[in-house]
Amino acid sequence: MAFYSEERTEDYLFKIVLIGDSAVGKSNLLARFARDEFYPNSKSTIGVEFQTQKMDINGKEVKAQIWDTAGQERFRAVTSAYYRGAVGALVVYDISRRQTFDSISRWLNELHTHSDMNVVTILVGNKSDLKDAREVSTAEGKVLAEAQGLFFIETSALDSSNVATAFQTVVREIYNILSRKVI
Ligand code: GDP
Ligand code: MG
Repeated sequence: MAFYSEERTEDYLFKIVLIGDSAVGKSNLLARFARDEFYPNSKSTIGVEFQTQKMDINGKEVKAQIWDTAGQERFRAVTSAYYRGAVGALVVYDISRRQTFDSISRWLNELHTHSDMNVVTILVGNKSDLKDAREVSTAEGKVLAEAQGLFFIETSALDSSNVATAFQTVVREIYNILSRKVI
């Protein structure tokens, strides 16, 4: 690959999708990561369709195009166009609402129906700040992730904990897979 010189940055644009039940914090995870903002009473209308974020991976500049459902999931109307071309996914539940964890298998099915089986996926247990209201243990999240071959992390869009790491884990893995293919 003699023509891949150091000057060639921004060669990569990765489409990443956020999925998971309504109100688990998808839009706030993106707002925290991309703009360092948080909306205490967010409505689905605050969502952007997607946000392009420059990231540094192993000293290389990579662009992640991160898609948000912007409320479509409330009507179970996430379209196949939403998934098309995705190489990464954050599948999000709320650690304080078990029902959102129970929905994960449905979201994984939908993801696999509409996209490549190899889409790099991380299971995200959001709202880790809500310690007293926890309904899903960290161990349960880990077990599910391992069984499904997913990365796993708990985050808080409210206090910022692990938010950047969640996105970076996915983008770094995509980058690594791609580099192995190129070389
Ligand atoms: P979405 O429907 O999945 O996009 O969820 P939103 O991002 O709109 O968040 C739904 C609600 O949960 C809003 O009231 C947010 O302020 C709140 N929320 C989101 N993330 C967190 C978090 O990490 N901790 C807490 N305590 N609340 C959160
Ligand atoms: Mg939203």
